[in-house]
Amino acid sequence: MNPLINFIYILSAALFIFGLKMLSSPATARQGNRLSSVGMLIAIIVTLMHAGLDYKWIFLGIVIGSGIGAFVAIRVKMTDMPEMVALFNGFGGISSLLLAWAEYNQNRELSVFIALVAFLSAFIGGVTFSGSMVAFGKLSGKITQKAVVFKGQHILNAAILVIALGAAVLFCITPASSLGYPLFTTILLVALAFGITSTIPIGGADMPVVISLLNSYSGLAACAAGFVISNNILIVAGALVGASGIILTNIMCKAMNRSLANVLFSGFGSTTAVQSGNGPQGEVRPASTEDVYYILEAADSVAFVPGYGLAVAQAQHAVKELGDLLEANNTEVSYAIHPVAGRMPGHMNVLLAEANVPYDQLVEMDEINPRMDTVDVCVVIGANDVVNPAALDDASSPIYGMPIIETHRANTVIVLKRSMNPGFAGIQNALFFAENARMYFGDAKASLQALVAEFKND
Ligand code: NDP
Repeated sequence: MNPLINFIYILSAALFIFGLKMLSSPATARQGNRLSSVGMLIAIIVTLMHAGLDYKWIFLGIVIGSGIGAFVAIRVKMTDMPEMVALFNGFGGISSLLLAWAEYNQNRELSVFIALVAFLSAFIGGVTFSGSMVAFGKLSGKITQKAVVFKGQHILNAAILVIALGAAVLFCITPASSLGYPLFTTILLVALAFGITSTIPIGGADMPVVISLLNSYSGLAACAAGFVISNNILIVAGALVGASGIILTNIMCKAMNRSLANVLFSGFGSTTAVQSGNGPQGEVRPASTEDVYYILEAADSVAFVPGYGLAVAQAQHAVKELGDLLEANNTEVSYAIHPVAGRMPGHMNVLLAEANVPYDQLVEMDEINPRMDTVDVCVVIGANDVVNPAALDDASSPIYGMPIIETHRANTVIVLKRSMNPGFAGIQNALFFAENARMYFGDAKASLQALVAEFKND
């Protein structure tokens, strides 16, 4: 390959790596995203300098693809982002499958190594595509969100894998024989089937973890595709996506205190765990806007704990406005972020950054918990599972062992939500019945705006 092209590929790869590094802090994440995008743009332009390309089809693809991508990216709601990522992963996977297929169509005389990477590209790409479509369907409610489990499921999956492996071995030995094409077609079909059968047993609740895993698969498929067509930047970019996807999957599993095997094979969510009737019970203490105003007005320190409900209500600007008013009232304000609050990693950071909440007011769970006893008021905004004390003291709870923000240890807890309905895990929350808790019912944005108005009228 042209040394200049390879040199520019190295520059692109460096931009990807620096960009990824910058994604690890909310303060630099946007810049990191831009840096990586520039790296990808450079890589694409340089790749187009290869001799012998048919530009007519490439530009048609770029125009249609960019058009659809821009349209969807502008319209997508922050809460629907995991669905969009699922679609992106799926398209990444099918691209690798098609690339391997096209290469095999052009040249059947493959070496064992190229046949092997073509198999990996097609198989992992196919699994990623169909698995991502199932994940998209589950998250968007187009197919059942429940874990679909049936007898013999693991045996079926094992059998599919054995067929895939058998076909792969034969294909790698004899890609150019008359058996080569039927074997390759079998691999494609088996991959698509395996993506479905391995994803349907996973409940909608665990889909974000699965999407992160499928993201990793899409990277591995792209990496293998890079070997098929000897393109170094595709190999590097694929490896980076593969590695970062698996690291993120691991972080998410840890934050929920579950193993990846438990997420993939336990059928979490196959039975509805909603315990609104038989979970913790007692008396709740509802609070009016005026009650909450007086509590906040007198507080020395307030920690906001945002959750999924804040995202649904789009209450990030309202909470920032209330935070500013509290600061003007000499109250120390912080925002305590749980790693899996919301529906995707970094969900709360992104929303609060959008509202220009200063980064130094964002406090991680491990930082706030040790000093929770000194917090005057915790305001839980549309969060539920991530503040559920059952995770600490109820061994029978599905979320037992998950680290939580221990708001129940604050002096006073005010919970903003619309009803007593459970959150993602489908379980009731003893916090809502605690002595020091007050329930401020209503849509999070409307409730925060009412408090802002109360402060302004003061
Ligand atoms: P939860 O899903 O536990 O609870 C959200 C709460 O928000 C609900 O109880 C709901 O109560 C309330 N709510 C919904 N809409 C509104 C609204 N408009 N105004 C006010 N309240 C509202 O969210 P958490 O953030 O606490 O927990 C996240 C869950 O998601 C965890 O179980 C986590 O494991 C899981 N998860 C997260 C991932 C991630 O990457 N972030 C990935 C995979 C899973 P009500 O209906 O009464 O208003």
